[in-house]
Amino acid sequence: MNAHFDTIVIGAGSGGGVAASRLSEDPGRSILLLEAGVDFPHEADMLPLVAVSSEHTWRVSGAPEFDWGFFDFDRAGRRNGRPIRLPRGRLVGGTSMVNSTIAVRPAASDLDRWASLGNAGWDYLSLLPLFRRIETDRDFGDSALHGGEGPIVINRYRRESWAPVNGVFADACDEAGLIWSDDLNNPDSDAGVVGAMPHNRFKEAKQGTLNTYLRIARGRKNLTIQGGALVDRILISGGRIKGVRWAGPEGSVETTADRIVLAAGVYNTPAVLMRSGIGEAARLADLGVKTHADLPVGRGLTDHPGCPFFFSADSGNALTGRLFATILRDAAREEGKPWWQLHPFPADEEEGLSGFFVFLCSQQASGTVAIRDADPRSLPIVDHDYLADPSDIARFRDAFEMIRRLVAQPAFRRVNARLLHDGADFESYVKATLASAHHQNGGCRMSPDPKLGVVGPDLEVHGVDGLYVADSSVFPDNIVHNTNLTCYVIGEKVADHIRRRS
Ligand SMILES: Cc1cc2nc3c(=O)[nH]c(=O)nc-3n(C[C@H](O)[C@H](O)[C@H](O)COP(=O)(O)OP(=O)(O)OC[C@H]3O[C@@H](n4cnc5c(N)ncnc54)[C@H](O)[C@@H]3O)c2cc1C
Repeated sequence: MNAHFDTIVIGAGSGGGVAASRLSEDPGRSILLLEAGVDFPHEADMLPLVAVSSEHTWRVSGAPEFDWGFFDFDRAGRRNGRPIRLPRGRLVGGTSMVNSTIAVRPAASDLDRWASLGNAGWDYLSLLPLFRRIETDRDFGDSALHGGEGPIVINRYRRESWAPVNGVFADACDEAGLIWSDDLNNPDSDAGVVGAMPHNRFKEAKQGTLNTYLRIARGRKNLTIQGGALVDRILISGGRIKGVRWAGPEGSVETTADRIVLAAGVYNTPAVLMRSGIGEAARLADLGVKTHADLPVGRGLTDHPGCPFFFSADSGNALTGRLFATILRDAAREEGKPWWQLHPFPADEEEGLSGFFVFLCSQQASGTVAIRDADPRSLPIVDHDYLADPSDIARFRDAFEMIRRLVAQPAFRRVNARLLHDGADFESYVKATLASAHHQNGGCRMSPDPKLGVVGPDLEVHGVDGLYVADSSVFPDNIVHNTNLTCYVIGEKVADHIRRRS
């Protein structure tokens, strides 16, 4: 590919799919979207894909046939070396096409904290127009809080379609005196409520970027979507980007551009930057990579650690239906942050087995992403440093006590619910069952200070002109809720910045 492009977007996932689509609205710009995974240019081929979801069985997370194959290998030895799978989508649409479609916004307090860290323009009120712009909320429509014309259709499932365990759960929460919220995306519902999860699904189709933003943009002459394009590195000279080296169907290619938006996701974005000479100088020198910008790339990785608690009950309770239909958000604690969220799920109809999944709303940000060598085919080494903070066990215990309280309510007693874990040797239980809630972020954090972050509030990499990052790696710290909608908004935000500047 010899042409020169206005913008190359690397990675067609939640952030990159939105950025490429929005930038291509300007016919004066030529956009190349490079994606390592497969593309689905024909609508007919997409059909099975949009229904693929970890929503249909709690056992499968992501879609293994479109997965990068990441694991956390317990470097610190806190789980007896038990690996934890970390699914990430490898296809046009990225992880937005393999996720569970829970469409929740970050808490207002999360965004206000991001702004207070020096990231001007990232506070709740400044970002609200973008959260409205991305959505068509079929329950609330065009209103002060919601959008009615965006590409992503959002709705909440009616009680009739929930897996029965969700109805039992909602009744038990009511009996326990917990507050029901009709809209978990209202900032008054960020903590201390139970409600129906909003989903980005429409007529059973997952609303990822492949079949929303990129479906809209695909016909534009100024947008080229190149699947099967593994990006090796960004070419930099004199503190400015020149282009991208990538491997496609015809071998290794170098393509030039005026600017680059890197959106390869929470693990691969740090890896591409490091291969390109952007990272901690000492580490890059060890790998024989010339440093262009000495920045804390790969630091501050975080996630929501999760843990399942199973119970047996009369089998009707475990019947399948909408798995992720309801959720309880812990009350705000110190600094206004809840500790955990928990939701029920059916596990095994024949055995009458169901469960509660608990995830912690924050994690100590001591995780890292590193590269083992400069070969783009080598997967980066991911270390989430799960359970580094001793308070994690206490927070899981607190959620478990809430589960006990709920199971003691009449709604659960009516179905003869009995928890399989009795709370003894709790720490060992958590270590043996710990999982990821898949809300990974950080690694290229946003901060105006290049000692603390990799990109500034405009998402441009410190010290490298023309290079932007637009995915979950830029979160300055963890948000308490799920991450996907925030990634869509980051894609919108980078497109706004670029349009304003040139
Ligand atoms: C199983 C699962 C369930 C989830 N459920 C939910 C949920 O219900 N609600 C929610 O809010 N969040 C959920 N999430 C999280 C959410 O989907 C992610 O936070 C979000 O999609 C991340 O977007 P991103 O833009 O950072 O990266 P991605 O969407 O992962 O995009 C990165 C893209 O870059 C491509 N790429 C990577 N490296 C290269 C390279 N070298 N060259 C070219 N291309 C490359 C990848 O193939 C991918 O397409 C879930 C995640 C998982 C895994």
